[in-house]
Amino acid sequence: MKYIRERLGAKLFLANLAVVLAGVVILALTIQLTVPAAFNRHMGMMAIGGMGMGQGQGYGRTLFENFRATLFESLGYAVTASVLAALLVSLLLSRRIVAPVHTLSAASQSIAEGHYEKRVQVDGADEIAQLATNFNQMAAQLEQVESMRRQLIGDVTHELRTPLTSIKGYMEGLVDGVLPSTPETFNQIHREADRLSRLVDDLQELSRVEAKAYSLDIRSVAIPALVQTTVKRLAPQATAKRITLRSDLPADLPPLLVDEDRITQVLVNLTANAIQYTPEGGDVTISAARVGDEIHISIKDTGIGIPPEHIGNLFTRFYRVDKSRSRQAGGGSGIGLTIARHLVEAHGGRIWVESQGEGRGSTFTFSLKSARS
Ligand code: ADP
Repeated sequence: MKYIRERLGAKLFLANLAVVLAGVVILALTIQLTVPAAFNRHMGMMAIGGMGMGQGQGYGRTLFENFRATLFESLGYAVTASVLAALLVSLLLSRRIVAPVHTLSAASQSIAEGHYEKRVQVDGADEIAQLATNFNQMAAQLEQVESMRRQLIGDVTHELRTPLTSIKGYMEGLVDGVLPSTPETFNQIHREADRLSRLVDDLQELSRVEAKAYSLDIRSVAIPALVQTTVKRLAPQATAKRITLRSDLPADLPPLLVDEDRITQVLVNLTANAIQYTPEGGDVTISAARVGDEIHISIKDTGIGIPPEHIGNLFTRFYRVDKSRSRQAGGGSGIGLTIARHLVEAHGGRIWVESQGEGRGSTFTFSLKSARS
């Protein structure tokens, strides 16, 4: 029974068998019902006629002719009835089998017209039911992509509008003479224009990594060298905020098999965030550890921390814990961590964050394969 439910071929075979059986049964029944009357008309009358008493159809014919006439008459009714029965059964069964294909066809037409919420009901477990399940999955995926696209356009518009509105406001103030044309005003305008240009750069980089439009130059890279480059690059920012930036690396770390520039980009991004979201006088530590055949690199800070409800969304583009605070702190638009996630995943690794909560620091960690695993 299960085999029949799961196989379209078995269903078609059974449908054909049912059509044949219906034909045969109706044929037998009609013969059974029509033979006595036909016999009486042809053979019976001949017998009576032979005795010189009857006027039936069989009168005056030979036995063979009457037998043949009886056979043809009965068979004529039987074949007509069985063909009609077979056609009826065939029509009903094929409608039943083809109905889900019609439903699928109508649903795909709906999707083609942009109604991504359309789904089909899945009955049974045969090939058509599997097709319906796959169709529903495809529709759900399309719906998600469409909603992400809308969200992206909304987010980008919002992000562009904020600095543009600022610049426009400053310019109008200058033109109307409400704002003084001092270096301070021009610096504010420059800062907003700078934010705009960083946003455009970030968006360009995001679209490149999301479309995987870059190649990785994988080589064996020593971890201390990576960390040193990062520390050197960010030392001025750390010093400016009186933050102690240090590294804590065990001596026997195996090298990594990675694209050096890309992983440096990830490390710099995470460390720059750590410095940015840590108040003056805090600590930022870059450490690495061997865990099984992986290396875990962590950036730990004593900064503002992350409330637990935000942890799961941090690597989603444009996500910021506190938009206004991030802006005041000179933060970006919430794209950096998304780019970092894409780059780490392109190396086959994972990235995650742990935090004890607000004001209690955060630790960002990413895992990579070591060259000697
Ligand atoms: P942004 O450019 O806004 O910093 P990111 O994608 O790098 O964008 O970070 C997204 C958000 O994650 C930030 O806006 C901030 O709210 C939070 N965040 C990132 N790093 C830290 C950190 N070390 N401590 C606390 N919050 C952080």
